Amino acid sequence: MSSDFYATLGLSRDASPEDIKKAYRRMSKELHPDKHKGDKEREQKFKEINEAYETLADPAKRKTYDQFGKTGPGGAGAGGFDFSGFSGARPEDFGGFSDLFETFFGGRGQKAGKRQERGRDLEVRVRITFMESVTGVQKILSLERLVACGDCSGSGAAKGSSLITCTECGGTGQVTRTTQSFFGAIRQAVLCSRCSGSGKFPEKKCTQCDGEGRVLRKEEVALDIPAGIDDGQTVRLRAYGEAGRNGSPSGDLFVHVEVSPDPRFTRNRDDVHGVHRISVPDAALGSDVQVDTAHGSVSLRIPPGTQSGQVMRIRGKGMPLLQSKNHGDHYVTIEVQIPVKLSREERRILEEWREISH
Ligand SMILES: [Zn+2]
Ligand SMILES: [Zn+2]
Repeated sequence: MSSDFYATLGLSRDASPEDIKKAYRRMSKELHPDKHKGDKEREQKFKEINEAYETLADPAKRKTYDQFGKTGPGGAGAGGFDFSGFSGARPEDFGGFSDLFETFFGGRGQKAGKRQERGRDLEVRVRITFMESVTGVQKILSLERLVACGDCSGSGAAKGSSLITCTECGGTGQVTRTTQSFFGAIRQAVLCSRCSGSGKFPEKKCTQCDGEGRVLRKEEVALDIPAGIDDGQTVRLRAYGEAGRNGSPSGDLFVHVEVSPDPRFTRNRDDVHGVHRISVPDAALGSDVQVDTAHGSVSLRIPPGTQSGQVMRIRGKGMPLLQSKNHGDHYVTIEVQIPVKLSREERRILEEWREISH
């Protein structure tokens, strides 16, 4: 599968929203599965252009994709979450398209058993300091969210009663609906609203959750923010969103991380930049100095004849790379300080110096 959404739609990176729409319309008409029944290659291509369009048509998703690509920075993560922009979008986010997929391809629903309505995704924002982004940090998030009801274990059925087959969909979890689209009338299999796609509903409702299988609860979640995370990146905690109805899967929690700037350091990708001031004699004669880095003080040899503004690299003292033992580098800009106040002795030496250098 092509990993470049722009290439998939035959567009350049600076394509306008109008270009994207046009390209998608043209290609989706051409490749529509109704015209090519059983043509696996075209089906695949049709899925690809839909996936590309879902991302590029949404300005926020497109921005994330432009920045991080398809899987987001870092890909699948350690510790049960991954670093994700919203580019790994699921079909749920796009009602119309996902319904098309279910109809034409069987989609996710068949692979994962019965398709059910997931709980909603949640989003929160967390601010950390620059140094916390270097070391990684644990933050306690206070969340108010729907969790599975303890009384009925999420089923929604009162104790002693059971779940019965949904009368609306006959237990399939889906009902057929005819809608208009730019392809013409389409018969779509949509989620049954009575049972939320589970195919069952409680004979007698659990009183604790009124048959929903979920209740609102305040709770604290400890989130380990990994070392190396950058401002604007998102940590995704799978299944920490809202619980689904009647035991359907939970949504995810997206934690948007903001990193406060640091007065000493700036970050550029995996590297950290700082400034170090030295005296005129140290610059001219060379010296060993201690330089502040994100990992503490590091000794650096200043060679004789170092100029103000010269940049030196300290390897491996930059940002930790996400899910890696490696680090970026620290770049230090040397500033040679011209003295503003001179002692009598200093003045004498400088004047002497001026004499002999004429
Ligand atoms: Zn309950
Ligand atoms: Zn139903």
